[in-house]
Amino acid sequence: MLQDLFVHVCILVTFIFIGGVIFKNTSENTAKQNRLILGLLTGVLGTLLMAFSIQVDVETIIDLRHLAIIIAAFFGGLTSSVICAIIIALSRLIFSPLSSMMLLVAFTSISIGIILGLISKLKITYKSKWSIMILVSTLLYTGLLMIRIHDVNNYLQIVIYYWSLSIFGNLFTYVLVMYISHSNFLFNEYKKQATFDFLTGLKNVRQFDHDMTNLKLSNKAKGQFALMLLDIDYFKKINDTYGHQAGDFILKQFANILRGAFPEQEKVFRIGGEEFSILLLNTKCSTAVLVGEEIRKKVENHKFILPDLKEIHISISIGVTINHVADESKEDIIRRADIALYEAKKSGRNRVCCNC
Ligand code: GH3
Ligand code: MG
Ligand code: MG
Repeated sequence: MLQDLFVHVCILVTFIFIGGVIFKNTSENTAKQNRLILGLLTGVLGTLLMAFSIQVDVETIIDLRHLAIIIAAFFGGLTSSVICAIIIALSRLIFSPLSSMMLLVAFTSISIGIILGLISKLKITYKSKWSIMILVSTLLYTGLLMIRIHDVNNYLQIVIYYWSLSIFGNLFTYVLVMYISHSNFLFNEYKKQATFDFLTGLKNVRQFDHDMTNLKLSNKAKGQFALMLLDIDYFKKINDTYGHQAGDFILKQFANILRGAFPEQEKVFRIGGEEFSILLLNTKCSTAVLVGEEIRKKVENHKFILPDLKEIHISISIGVTINHVADESKEDIIRRADIALYEAKKSGRNRVCCNC
């Protein structure tokens, strides 16, 4: 039994690891495609578990194929579990001589795929869902064994063996699957936190630095880009007058204006408290100044709403520059834009200055 267990554990670890890598960066856009891939992957897992199953008599084998269907149902729902079950049923029919018993085995597998897929829709805790799935699938396969094995003593012995294998395999798989899915969740969460600003949802200063470096490298072939630095005027006064929470409200609304103004939101960043930057690809200095002027006017005319629904107006100052030569350092470009922003502040605020 230990040898059988070892082989099953090796197969499970390999597949769960591969699945963890494939589904590391899952998103809503790829959800449908992922369910298909999960169904296929778990179908192959179930087939492999069957290939290394334990032959208990001429027509009977026991294995952990139901764990493959559980993983499919648990993470991919009905679609994945049915695909997985169909693959398992087909491979059982293809690799075994056709008989009425084999048809019953195939039918049971598909039924389990459907039942587990439906269980996956229940609004209960993960632990309860997994427990119900393991209980239902193990019971159904135990029932199937009863049809196939007529000698009571032999049956009891095989059932004890099967349940021991199933309980161990289940605990092992649950712990491993949960560990990997939690690691993937944390990976995506930390990646998001490292990329986006918590308050406004715009890209953060780290990403600005990263994009400036990449832009500089990739821009060697393409040519010019413009950098715009934006700073809200007298923002400290807003905080002092209306409170920090009101300040946060303004920052969020300001970020929404930038989001609306730039379809290519990828290049809008919050780089400090009330400081923002925008990268405009293949843009001349004069065009960037016009774009800056448009935003400045939009902000000037916008009614910002405070938590107590009071409306206020704010203004911004903008510094604009462009890259001079393809391999100019990002520090030099930022410094030039900063000088332009300082000029805008010094000459009265609520204006766009360029230092191209
Ligand atoms: P200036 O016109 O010269 O830019 O004046 P300012 O008051 O906007 O500039 P200053 O640098 O003196 O103040 C920036 C203020 O922004 C100070 C700080 O309390 C506030 N601030 C920074 N980050 C946040 C934040 O996340 N939320 C809020 N509410 N305020 C912030
Ligand atoms: Mg300011
Ligand atoms: Mg500032």
